Amino acid sequence: MTRQRALILDIMREKSPQHLTADELFNEARLRMPHIARGTVYRNLKMMELDGEVGHLEMPGGPDRYDYNPSPHGHLLCDGCGHLADLPVVGLMREVEAAIGTEVRGYTLTIHYLCPKCRAAKPADE
Ligand SMILES: [Zn+2]
Ligand SMILES: [Zn+2]
Repeated sequence: MTRQRALILDIMREKSPQHLTADELFNEARLRMPHIARGTVYRNLKMMELDGEVGHLEMPGGPDRYDYNPSPHGHLLCDGCGHLADLPVVGLMREVEAAIGTEVRGYTLTIHYLCPKCRAAKPADE
């Protein structure tokens, strides 16, 4: 493993459970390794994704994000601030499997909601 790859993984572990974009990861990496190139960060992220070391999330209407947790799980997306949180859905997938009578091979699940912070900031009648 290269130093660059180890650094990116360190940042993701520290920032977990945040789901950072490649640019956010690059900015953070540059603070710690000032000469690191944007392309190096992007290339390493791609390799880590292909190796199944990190998860990669395509976000509608926004830049892709990277997930320190590579195992399948759902997400809660706040429509107010864009905060993305993990959502364990093992029980739900068992129900789906029971309903379809076969194994779920993979899934992408994002539930939209307002996080507690945004709910608190909104008027009650909305
Ligand atoms: Zn929010
Ligand atoms: Zn996640």
